[in-house]
Amino acid sequence: MAAKAIEVSGLHKSYGSHEAVRGVDLVVDEGDVFALLGPNGAGKTTTVEILEGHRHRSSGTVSVLDHDPGKGEPTYKQRIGIVLQETGVERYLTVAEAVDLYRGYYPNPLGVDEVIEIVGLTDKRDERIVKLSGGQQRRLDVAVGLAGDPDLLFLDEPTTGFDPSARRGAWEMIRNLKSLGKTVLLTTHYMDEAQALADRVAIIAAGKIIAEGPPDGLLQTADTITTIRFVKPSAELPPAISYRTTETGFCEISTSEPVAILNELTGWAIQNSVDLAGLSVARPTLEDVYLQLVRASEKGKDQ
Ligand code: ATP
Repeated sequence: MAAKAIEVSGLHKSYGSHEAVRGVDLVVDEGDVFALLGPNGAGKTTTVEILEGHRHRSSGTVSVLDHDPGKGEPTYKQRIGIVLQETGVERYLTVAEAVDLYRGYYPNPLGVDEVIEIVGLTDKRDERIVKLSGGQQRRLDVAVGLAGDPDLLFLDEPTTGFDPSARRGAWEMIRNLKSLGKTVLLTTHYMDEAQALADRVAIIAAGKIIAEGPPDGLLQTADTITTIRFVKPSAELPPAISYRTTETGFCEISTSEPVAILNELTGWAIQNSVDLAGLSVARPTLEDVYLQLVRASEKGKDQ
């Protein structure tokens, strides 16, 4: 069994009378990329900041790298790296100077050029930070979090505001971190990001974990629907197939029995020489499952 990087049990946090975290249990294996997902205000930041040692919990037990983060031990802080959404790195330093500055705070830091290479900024090594693009600055933020050679890295929405190619670049960087054996705890609002990167995800809603597991596992356990689409043919579809017509003139079938429906549909099309132009069959995504679970949890709360 893999060693545990994070173990949380019965975590509660209240702000005055507001209970922001309401009994969270969480286990993250060493070397995993773990994504914490959830709507705005669900309690992700509160949970993560308790794990980082930046917020006190109201109750529950928390062990991160065999430390209680609530104790604020320097030996704990040396083993974690934190990449916030906005970092205050001095903008007139060069990339190499900034990384070197942060290395100085740790007893066993990584080499400057090693860090810069991991985050993919080698060709910007001597560039001033003010001249970096938003995506490159975000990479530098990760470099700063990585400078002390942490075992565990907290990444808060690492690709918010990125263009698609910068996002792919950042994903590569996160895979790099994993291949170095780092544990990564990631928060993100992008479900495709969680699906692409995470070994496991937890969905938190209104302070409680409502689902947890590998992304593929969540896709299988949820009541998921496959979508079949094709350009609306001029011939009438068999009456047994119910569909809706989209604004763009496609037939869209949502079904939990895609094999049977496809069999009926394609059999009918071949028999009647109908061309099902643009036919596509889409698996449910993590986003579909996420929305389904969060909505069900909100509905349950209202009742
Ligand atoms: P987002 O996705 O918007 O960042 P989140 O899941 O990180 O949201 P939290 O920031 O943990 O959510 O907030 C959880 C709840 O606790 C929210 O209702 C928020 O208003 C409340 N909250 C957070 N910080 C404080 C604070 N310092 N004082 C009072 N209430 C707070």
